[in-house]
Formats: sequence, structure tokens, C-alpha cells
Amino acid sequence: MIIQLKENASGKESDSLKEMLESKSFRFKTVKTQLGKYLIALGNNEIDIRSIGNLPAVRDVHAVNDKQQLVSSKWKTSPTVIQLGNDIKIGDESFRVIAGPCSIEDKEQVNGMREFLSEQHIQIMRGGVFKPRSSPYSFRGVGIEGLKYFSALCHENNIKVITEVMEAEKIEAMYPYVDIFQVGARNSQNFNLLDALGKVDKPVLLKRGVSGTLDELLYSAEYIFSGGNERIILCERGIRTFEKSYRNTLDLNAIPLLKEKTHLPVIVDPSHGTGKKELIEPMTLAGLMSGADGVMIEIHKNPEKAVSDGAQSLNFKQMETLNQKVKMTSEFLNETLIRNF
Ligand code: PEP
Ligand code: MN
Repeated sequence: MIIQLKENASGKESDSLKEMLESKSFRFKTVKTQLGKYLIALGNNEIDIRSIGNLPAVRDVHAVNDKQQLVSSKWKTSPTVIQLGNDIKIGDESFRVIAGPCSIEDKEQVNGMREFLSEQHIQIMRGGVFKPRSSPYSFRGVGIEGLKYFSALCHENNIKVITEVMEAEKIEAMYPYVDIFQVGARNSQNFNLLDALGKVDKPVLLKRGVSGTLDELLYSAEYIFSGGNERIILCERGIRTFEKSYRNTLDLNAIPLLKEKTHLPVIVDPSHGTGKKELIEPMTLAGLMSGADGVMIEIHKNPEKAVSDGAQSLNFKQMETLNQKVKMTSEFLNETLIRNF
């Protein structure tokens, strides 16, 4: 059960609510986010929710049984829209394109990339500065110094920055330079990191684990929300299956199902979901058709020279073509009312 509390509820009013729950043997947890105050009541006991709804501390009460309480669409039926300022949103009616290199390499790369993104009206740039790599001998990122120039150059062009955070201890140092914190597939169930991001007042893009179920993804999102941060974007980035023809199997089934289960925006990452540049365009368009709120794509001026994930990176020309196709498809869907963008 989710009990939304009134902002101005007095201590006494909240106490009488808690006493009532205790008398019915409910356990509860208070959640305070940047946007609201909630009491999550746990237990399968019989209770007439109207008796709770009538208490002075209570704004609204929702009977939700599943464990993904706060991220569930069962209590919050309107979609969550992530505001990044300057009219940049994720989860509104538009399909948001995020693009950038797998890894930030140097200033020259960021400079060229930001000019290209500006020309393409792409307002969010991705780029890893701390890279989770399977082998410890692979390139592991330019670190915080790289993040500083990545952020400064992008912000000059009004482009928002998304980058991966791999450990809770780095959040503070990264905070001034980041607009969206990315949690990578490998850290999808790093509960200490998720708890710490619950305390942050910036959006979090949470990727599905390499072999993570949708329920596990939603539980991970619940950690962030119940820690105090409601601004979460989910990302389908492919899962490991028996199929070896591509790096991962992009699970597009997940998009409409997640959109039904949760009010959070969901984006698709066809780069890691396929590992092959030829598959990025069809999977992006399929993601759009399946109801995703956006896409995150790896691009590089010269993919053959990329320090990581070159095989799945589009060059600028390919990205330009894809961007046009995304626009045309969105307009078509809008006009034909198959989907409202
Ligand atoms: C990335 O976005 O560069 C990345 C490492 O992705 P994932 O965590 O999905 O493997
Ligand atoms: Mn990558």
C-alpha cells in the first residue's frame, strides 16, 4: 500500500497514521523524495483503505500489492516526465535521441561531437569516462579530468551530459559536471550504488542487467526511488542469450511490458543490445514503434579508431540518416495516430 502524505502534515497527524498501521500489524517505511512524501505500508492484512484515506495526514492512498510499489503504474497512472531544463525532457510525447561515443577520448573528439550533435538538434550527449571493461587491460576511461572538459564543452552548446558512475564514492566528485547519472548493466544490482543515487537530486538512467529480469530491473529502480530520487529512466540494453550471432539479444518485448508495469520512461540502447552497427537503424526504429521514450546510440567520427565499441558505433553520416528516419517515422506515427508523439 502506498500512502501519499500531505506536505504540511504535522508530526502528530503522521504519528496517528503510523499508530493506526501498527495496530493492524503493518510494517512501514517513510520515503521522502524531492517531489513528495510517502509511507509504504507492507503486510497482507485486511484493512479498509478508506479509514486511512480519511486521516488528516493523508493526501491519497493506493492499494498496491506488488513489491515494486513506488515505480508501479498501478498507483501513478500518469507517465513520469524527466525535466532536464531548457525544454529538454524524457518521457513526454517526443522520442528522445541521445548519442555520443562509448568512451570520451580527448577534447578534440568532444569538440567535433558537440558540433555534430548541435547541427542534428540532438540535445543529450552520452560518453563514458569511467568504463566497466570485461578485461582489465582494455581502455578504462579518461576519468574525472575528462568529465570536466566533456561537461564544459557540451554545456557551452546547451547539450546535456550523461555518463556512467561505477561507485558511490565517485558521485560527489562527478556531481557538478553530470546531468544524468548512468548505472551500467554490470552495476544494475549494485544496491549500495542505487541507495546512494537515491540521495542525489539529478536523474538516473538505469540499465537492465546482462542477465537481469524485468522484475529485477524494477526492484533496482525501486531502490533509487525509495532512497529519495523519483527521476529514473529505465534502459533496455539487451540480455545474454544462447544466440551468438550478435553481442546481446535486444529484448524489445520489454518495452511495452515495462511501459505497462511502470510510470517511468523507458529507452532503448541498440548499440549494446546488438553490438553491430548494421543492426542499429532497424532496432532503433523498432524501439520507436514499440513505444520507447527514446534511444541511446554510440557514435564516433571514425569508428575504426574508437578506443572502445567501434564495431557498434555509427559514423556521423549514418547517424544523420538515422536521425532523419526517426523524425520521419515519428511524424508518420503521429499523423496516422498509431502512436501519439
Ligand atoms: C555503455 O553504455 O557504454 C556501457 C558500458 O553499457 P552497458 O552497461 O549496457 O554494457
Ligand atoms: Mn559502449
